[in-house]
Amino acid sequence: MTEEKFQSEVDTLNRFFTKYCKDKHTNQKNNLYKFKYKNLSFETSISLCEECNTLISYSFDRLKECPHEIKPRCRNCENPCYEKTQWKSLSKVMRYSAIRLNLTNRIKKIFS
Ligand SMILES: [Zn+2]
Repeated sequence: MTEEKFQSEVDTLNRFFTKYCKDKHTNQKNNLYKFKYKNLSFETSISLCEECNTLISYSFDRLKECPHEIKPRCRNCENPCYEKTQWKSLSKVMRYSAIRLNLTNRIKKIFS
């Protein structure tokens, strides 16, 4: 995938995890993540609990190693990079936040 795509995937994971963790967990800590991908390097700080922190680090690692130039939806991928248990936890986070973040965006649009 391109550097831009990689960065936007990281942003999406960041937003989804932050939302989920804030609603479901306590004891968040600020974590700094450093990325190097092709010619791109950047850092981002994310406030998450221990559990989410472990899972998001795992997701970032998998993302870096994704062999696809154009990343397919993980569900349709013929060589999925997540192990079953991690995939289950991740899809829980994504489903939860997808609904809520979409709603908030729509509500913002209506009222802006
Ligand atoms: Zn959490």
